[in-house]
Amino acid sequence: MLPGDGIGPEIVAEAVKVLQACAEIFSLSFEFSEAPVGGAAVEVSGHPLPEETLSLCQQSDAVLLGAIGGPRWDHLPVERRPEAAALLPLRKKLGLFANLRPVLLYKALIDASPLKRGIIEGTDILVVRELTGGLYFGEKKREKIPGGERAVETLVYTTSEIERIGRLAFEAAQQRRGVLHSVDKANVLESSRLWRETMHRLHDDYPDVQLHHMYVDNAAMQLIDQPRQFDVIVTENMFGDILTDQASVLTGSIGMLGSASIGGKVALYEPAHGSAPDIAGQNRANPLATILSAALMLRYSFDHEAAAGVIEKAVATVLEQGYRTAEIMQPGCREVGTAEIGDQVVTALATL
Ligand code: NAD
Repeated sequence: MLPGDGIGPEIVAEAVKVLQACAEIFSLSFEFSEAPVGGAAVEVSGHPLPEETLSLCQQSDAVLLGAIGGPRWDHLPVERRPEAAALLPLRKKLGLFANLRPVLLYKALIDASPLKRGIIEGTDILVVRELTGGLYFGEKKREKIPGGERAVETLVYTTSEIERIGRLAFEAAQQRRGVLHSVDKANVLESSRLWRETMHRLHDDYPDVQLHHMYVDNAAMQLIDQPRQFDVIVTENMFGDILTDQASVLTGSIGMLGSASIGGKVALYEPAHGSAPDIAGQNRANPLATILSAALMLRYSFDHEAAAGVIEKAVATVLEQGYRTAEIMQPGCREVGTAEIGDQVVTALATL
């Protein structure tokens, strides 16, 4: 467990509570170890990803991360900033090239979404985002030029990087409704043209999947306009970063989206949101995204579909019973804090 900063420790504690309850129900046993990451690690060791934290992750079967970063560490140079110097290297060092984000709209939350019921009802999307290539990892530089500076980022993708994420997405589509949207910007970017050609070629191996190519600007619009058309979306790193945040709005709150980063020996599970410093320490954070990330951990790292499914059902039950954290509060519901939502999920688990 890497609780991290801001609301991280509060939400990870709730996920651990739920995992422990699952352990009792399914006669499992988990061994938990904890290490500092992000700003919390800067405070104790001077670096956001200390060697000991990385090696603990590498020796574990799976990693559950809360969130990192906050205004207290924003002034640090980029090589010590929590997100740039901890999150990206951690993903890279664990070889986590794929980020899976289920965007599932819970019936009880339909009215919490800013979109109309008729548009979003039935939304159930899996976004597969490439995580270790593209702009965020390409060479970058800044240089002085007359009149100011010049900043350069490099967007690099290789055929093999696209193939491995592509195959994973086709296989995910085979296990779902068999529709795959590959999102790119092939009308402008060379890397996107390679992306599109590679996806097109891979399709020969997955004739049972319907493949659609979509430009990212259109995808942004379609997600809001007709989200039900999507089953699995596969896209490159930066497009995925933006589209997954946009997709989170469909579900009512970014506090509802869990994620799994897979590809290496040890997978990493984390909520899709950040450290929410504005509500940290106030028992107001929604822990459900982290609890749902723990469910993904049971599914992908521990191959325990039954336990994963039961957690997901327990979350739906708690929402149907009307329990809400502040950011998804609706008329007629009961507003509760972080810890009580965790307790209610544990109670619901015992009844399923
Ligand atoms: P954020 O996701 O932390 O917060 C955005 C808004 O959503 C805030 O109003 C916050 O209160 C709310 N929110 C987020 N999670 C919530 C939850 N579980 N329950 C209830 N409300 C929730 O994004 P931000 O404000 O842009 O970033 C804050 C810090 O988090 C920054 O330092 C940023 O770098 C960092 N960050 C970290 C990660 C990560 O660890 N993976 C991801 C994104 C941002």
